[in-house]
Amino acid sequence: MYIDCDDKELFILKKIANAAEEIGVPSCVIGGFVRDKIIGRPTKDIDIVCIGDGIALAHKAAEKFNPQPQVNFFKNFGTAQIKVDDIEIEFVGARKESYDFNSRKPAVENGTLEDDQNRRDFTINALAISLNKENYGELLDPFNGLEDIDKKIIQTPLAPAQTFSDDPLRMMRAIRFASQLQYTIEEKTFAAIKENAKRIKIVSGERIADELNKILMCKKPSVGFDLLYKSGLLQIIFPQMVALAGAEYIDGKGHKDNFYHTLQVVDNISENTDDLWLRWAAVLHDIAKPVTKRFEEGHGWTFHGHEVVGGRMVPKIFTQLKLPQNEKMKFVRKMVELHLRPISLTKENITDSAIRRLLFDAGEDFDALMTLCSADITSKNKQKVQRYLQNFEMVKQRCAEVEEKDHLRNWQPPITGELIMETFNLPPSKTVGIIKDAIRNAILDGEITSDYDAAYAFMIQKAKELGFTM
Ligand code: ATP
Repeated sequence: MYIDCDDKELFILKKIANAAEEIGVPSCVIGGFVRDKIIGRPTKDIDIVCIGDGIALAHKAAEKFNPQPQVNFFKNFGTAQIKVDDIEIEFVGARKESYDFNSRKPAVENGTLEDDQNRRDFTINALAISLNKENYGELLDPFNGLEDIDKKIIQTPLAPAQTFSDDPLRMMRAIRFASQLQYTIEEKTFAAIKENAKRIKIVSGERIADELNKILMCKKPSVGFDLLYKSGLLQIIFPQMVALAGAEYIDGKGHKDNFYHTLQVVDNISENTDDLWLRWAAVLHDIAKPVTKRFEEGHGWTFHGHEVVGGRMVPKIFTQLKLPQNEKMKFVRKMVELHLRPISLTKENITDSAIRRLLFDAGEDFDALMTLCSADITSKNKQKVQRYLQNFEMVKQRCAEVEEKDHLRNWQPPITGELIMETFNLPPSKTVGIIKDAIRNAILDGEITSDYDAAYAFMIQKAKELGFTM
């Protein structure tokens, strides 16, 4: 076998080869599995192509395993899947594709192995290993994919412009692979992406989101985002991020390029977290800088309120990018809104009250917030970075001390709105909110303790001031 498989994989491939021989259909392993084995990355799924009926081969192969796996098949697509232990195996008949200009879904007809390799997106994804008796285990590499792996190059097997125009999702995939593998996209291939960038509009938002998430989960996501920017794709799929690019100068005073700053923050945070949503928070933390930017005489550039405006932009951007409208989105919004708070606590003479408020507002996401804030320090001046990080350690220390005393991270104020309404016979109204906020603030400011009795007494007093009695 040309590729280095473990015993379980060899066992599976042999069974499939036997099944294919029995029903007389030539077959091979193709695509990502072969590529990843050669590169030495962990592999997941095995894709099998056969010259014949993929569903029939899946059924025959399933019979060879004990226990016999279930065959899931899709007649319309001519594909079938079985799962052996944790390995998913997909079967398909070799096919030839032809595309219509308005759709990325091709018309397909049965084809040869060569046709099937031609329809693959990149040379490194067209590699196959024969499962046939006469050349079992041999590498079938018509487009020198092996050489491209060696040179760390992404290029298309056929003319790149046609390849990308046929299925524009491949442009996102090229950039995603370049980012995941740290490969270079070959010059003509990249030029064809630029040329066809507008065609991305025929791809569904969900598929684009999938690729964006994969780029964001790379070791260095900046590689992918920078390529998306330079290819012109980002301008179409996520213009708000492109608006961060560039630095404006007035009276010789400029501000930093917030696009590259953001990329640096995303790379920084990726060293410390695999949480996709915290990484999205890094992408979006300064997203409102372009819309809040002002030049103030004698002051320079300001971005007042960008954290609040940015927070408000999050739901819309999530909708636009087909990201979920759920707790994850709320988490990202919260991170964007709070991302300046810990920095503001690095000044001297910070009161316990300010620390309590941060603990209360960040709640269970406090550690995530500190991870974001540490990643946000991108100065080139190493001493400055060191100083900021030390200040953060101090803030963390203070927070730990206050948390130990007051337990505010997962704390709920002891008096509910319902209780206020019941006690003073009030309908749901602004007054209820005013009393509730007053109690919360009194606790956070340390005026009263956080237990029920103290809060109840304060509620009575506050209501009295407002002219209410029980
Ligand atoms: P990953 O699992 O990381 O996404 P992969 O290469 O295995 O990588 P799949 O989406 O599982 O990706 O695709 C399997 C194979 O199918 C690819 O290796 C490639 O040969 C082919 N392929 C997938 N999508 C396309 C496409 N849009 N155009 C052409 N070929 C494709």
